[in-house]
Amino acid sequence: MKIGQRRSKQRELILEELRGLTCHPTADELYELVRKRISNISLGTVYRNLELLAASGVILKLESGGKNRFDGTAEPHPHIRCTQCGRVDDVMQQVDVTTLDDKSSRGYDIKGCNIEYFGICPDCMSSSH
Ligand SMILES: [Zn+2]
Ligand SMILES: [Zn+2]
Repeated sequence: MKIGQRRSKQRELILEELRGLTCHPTADELYELVRKRISNISLGTVYRNLELLAASGVILKLESGGKNRFDGTAEPHPHIRCTQCGRVDDVMQQVDVTTLDDKSSRGYDIKGCNIEYFGICPDCMSSSH
């Protein structure tokens, strides 16, 4: 198999693994999972492929709460982040983001909108008492 083919095969597997999750893993967390399927994959390869996939709009990169997390759903959607453990969940409810009028958009060409709620997740709540 050619190097290029091997690379895209790895990327496919990383994407497949990410799409099977709903927990918005960090690169390190995803690496642990992918490693079970490709034993010789390196953390650097996982990082690089995630950045590549995010840059090409195939996946979302969530840059909040200090650590980058990755989301297999590329369509922008609201999230809830736990301020204690950093876990991120999807918000299923459709949140209506009203479009900005010309004055509010301040001359920007608006490309999207990130909505993030934050709070304490059920796990952290139950472990705190
Ligand atoms: Zn939590
Ligand atoms: Zn999400």
